[in-house]
Amino acid sequence: MAAKILLVEDSDSQQLFLKEGLVKHGFVVETANNGAEAYKKLYEFVPDLVLSDIMMPMIDGYQLCRLIKNKEETKKIPVILLTILDKKIDSFWGKKAGAQLFLSKSIDMEGLITNINATLRRYPVTDEYKANISQLISPENSAQSQLNIILNDLLLKSVFANEFRNLSDFLNYERILVEKLFSLLSSFVEYNVAGIYFASPDDFSENILYIDTLGRNLSRNLLSDIQYDFFRKLEDIKPIRENKFEVVRILLGKEMDYTFGDMKSKIIIPLIFDKKLIGGICFYTRSDADYASFRYFDIMISELQAIFKMKYQYTEKEFMSVLDGLTGLYNRRQFELGLEQEFNRTKRHPADFSLAILDIDFFKKVNDTYGHQYGDYVLKTVSDLVKASFRKTDLLYRYGGEELVMIMPETNVEGAIIPVQRLRRTIEEYDFEYNGVKAKVTASIGLTMNYQSFKTAAELLKSADESLYKAKESGRNRVVIYEEKEQNYGLS
Ligand code: GH3
Ligand code: MG
Ligand code: MG
Repeated sequence: MAAKILLVEDSDSQQLFLKEGLVKHGFVVETANNGAEAYKKLYEFVPDLVLSDIMMPMIDGYQLCRLIKNKEETKKIPVILLTILDKKIDSFWGKKAGAQLFLSKSIDMEGLITNINATLRRYPVTDEYKANISQLISPENSAQSQLNIILNDLLLKSVFANEFRNLSDFLNYERILVEKLFSLLSSFVEYNVAGIYFASPDDFSENILYIDTLGRNLSRNLLSDIQYDFFRKLEDIKPIRENKFEVVRILLGKEMDYTFGDMKSKIIIPLIFDKKLIGGICFYTRSDADYASFRYFDIMISELQAIFKMKYQYTEKEFMSVLDGLTGLYNRRQFELGLEQEFNRTKRHPADFSLAILDIDFFKKVNDTYGHQYGDYVLKTVSDLVKASFRKTDLLYRYGGEELVMIMPETNVEGAIIPVQRLRRTIEEYDFEYNGVKAKVTASIGLTMNYQSFKTAAELLKSADESLYKAKESGRNRVVIYEEKEQNYGLS
């Protein structure tokens, strides 16, 4: 059976010329003078191929192509765009519109026929597919209004992409990234509570759940219910140690009095890359938001996917590197290596070394009162004070969020207490000031050394942690030295 071609061309002379050529080669041809007419005839004539000019009044060839390719029922019909446009960008745009082929009008009839035959062979439309089209009546909406929907979607997609892409400037600034993400999401997603979680490429980082409540406070109960609900879902993908996460509320305001039971709709979206969980996002709302049918969700999710992937890869890179970006101190990974090394070295060649852990007091309050940027400034400044307090041979690290550690080789606790106390006092006396805002800050420090009884570096580290805990317990802004004897008596 002869193949049917829908020829779309607004110039009468060109249309006639092409039609004659096609008919002569045995094709059954139907003609249309513009995109709108062609779209209507698509359902009546049901062609095997559409051969269309690009530049036509009203609905042009690109747009006709988009219309055809946008609908499941017509998308398999191949489209050849025929044009005098010959710039690379024109052909790129034609392909983006879904055209199978882009041919120059200067091609001779033989060449055109060869290309048409090749396209028909490559993209055959089955009788069954065609029969389905002929049963349908051409869509109610005019081609123009359907096109508007398609173009709007496209525009929205690129606006979305742009908004999300702007966030990539803040990959190294997790808190700002989160704030910007929330502010973007809240501009088009309905929610009362939203949560964001970035999975960490390493195993020891804390799991942080960021919550946005649109400026309202969250009751403890609601918070833990959401935390449970969200992480339980993600847990299926990546085991998340329950005891190891921290909830950070970004935006604070008035009291929120409703409970988890008041949340009528929710959606939890795990974000996966390379078969790994790289994060998740959740929305809860008290109204009947039908998240699943939200028109732009798939666009949003693919943009979220991209930004979470970038963040994951950034963190991975940071983790593999040596220095911490904010403080300029060695990072946690380096600390783990350094501690192990020093511990083993002094086991082989007995010598003292001390270890101190510093944690800023009430740092959450600093963040909550003055903002996270201020918190970062305080952390950076404390790190600078630490650098100034120790010898060149001492090793300084950022251990966790606002915890810094110092390894002092060839030093016992009696020697170490001097710079450590001096550091504590320096911080207490320092006048913090950033953007004209003044603040006072203190820190607590746990101090220990490589006592004989420690069998592993981990035990040594634990003793420093315990001392830090005691310093916090007994009032903060102080140094507590680990008491080996007491501990040993306790054990024997
Ligand atoms: P405490 O005296 O018991 O230590 O009280 P705290 O508020 O300091 O409590 P905790 O040490 O548990 O809190 C640490 C907080 O530090 C949690 C987190 O919001 C914040 N934080 C961690 N890393 C950063 C960071 O890089 N920048 C900023 N601005 N804040 C951070
Ligand atoms: Mg603290
Ligand atoms: Mg801390």
